Amino acid sequence: MCEEASCPNLGECWEQGHATMMIMGDTCTRGCTFCNVATGRPEALDPFEPGRVAKAVASLGLRHVVITSVDRDDLGDGGAAHFVHTIRAIRQFNPDTTIEILTPDFLKCDPAVVDAVVDARPDVFNHNLETVPGLYPQVRPGARYYHSLRLLDRVRQRDPSIFTKSGLMVGLGEDRQSVHQVMDDLRAAGVDFLTIGQYLQPTPKHHPVAQYVTPEDFAALKTAALGKGFLMVAASPLTRSSYHADADFQKLQAL
Ligand code: SF4
Ligand code: SF4
Repeated sequence: MCEEASCPNLGECWEQGHATMMIMGDTCTRGCTFCNVATGRPEALDPFEPGRVAKAVASLGLRHVVITSVDRDDLGDGGAAHFVHTIRAIRQFNPDTTIEILTPDFLKCDPAVVDAVVDARPDVFNHNLETVPGLYPQVRPGARYYHSLRLLDRVRQRDPSIFTKSGLMVGLGEDRQSVHQVMDDLRAAGVDFLTIGQYLQPTPKHHPVAQYVTPEDFAALKTAALGKGFLMVAASPLTRSSYHADADFQKLQAL
């Protein structure tokens, strides 16, 4: 995933033995306008992938792994069972590795599929809202803001012991008041950890950068978010949802 997303933090993360792995293929059924992942018809799921991911985590010696995926609207459960199998396989081969999942929104699925993923007990359940609700039609056209919020709320209701996390990009054209409203919505859903990073346009065909947010503005956003009650906030130009995930999880546990 780190390579696929052309992530600017790749050198630092890999040096620290922390990585993000994408499961369920490299073709997404959605077409978010900020995202560089290919859109199209994905291939069938590989039933051996969970075992391979678990062995890769072992061979890389990862202490904390982030598992994410493309969106799979073509599957009845959105790929929830595949997440469950992957979590179980990682645990079996790597009992000391902590697991963070960064999931799709399971929009077209029975809400109970989310419960099955929660019951596999990842250490952190992350689902990114990505942007403010007013920009969803342009930025996340296949998604629904309030559905994503409900997903995070359902995770919290199902198992309050699992840390919940979400992330936003800024610089897409959002106004500051809307960002504050998103923070309030996430706190109402009981989300513990918020990440905020600068949007960077992957190619000229993607959504344009509307603004480069200054470090001072990121600091102000962090202060505001902490004031609203998040346990942890990471906000900087290079912040990505899995950036420093290992160290941040250890801090969350210590709170
Ligand atoms: Fe990989 Fe996430 Fe680090 Fe980027 S921030 S290099 S995607 S682990
Ligand atoms: Fe990219 Fe995720 Fe949107 Fe698919 S759902 S296009 S992987 S951001």
